[in-house]
Amino acid sequence: MSDYNWCHGTNCHQQHTQSRVRGSGDNKVLRTIKIKLGTEWIRNSIYAYFCNQRCLMDFMNEHRDRIVALAPRREALETPIKVEKEKYESYRYRHNGTDYQRVPYQATRTTIKGVDNG
Ligand SMILES: [Zn+2]
Repeated sequence: MSDYNWCHGTNCHQQHTQSRVRGSGDNKVLRTIKIKLGTEWIRNSIYAYFCNQRCLMDFMNEHRDRIVALAPRREALETPIKVEKEKYESYRYRHNGTDYQRVPYQATRTTIKGVDNG
């Protein structure tokens, strides 16, 4: 196993950054970023293959049809939940021309809770 990957971003080698410049004199190029796989985090991450989010999204956009074909979704998934609403005292600030005034009001907090299906 090599200790690096080349970034898979389709346009990585066209981004104008100093870190991509290689060569000397009149023979300079922009080169794809070499990703060092020096940590366990990077080896287990999508960023083992992409130097940044732009390169990841360029790749996703270019290959999206084949990527979604790996695990097609033909119907919606659902997660059972309980929605709880609770009233509580809160405050808002009203400007009275010169100053802000703290005004109490009855607020509603909505909480989505998972349902144990065990
Ligand atoms: Zn890249």
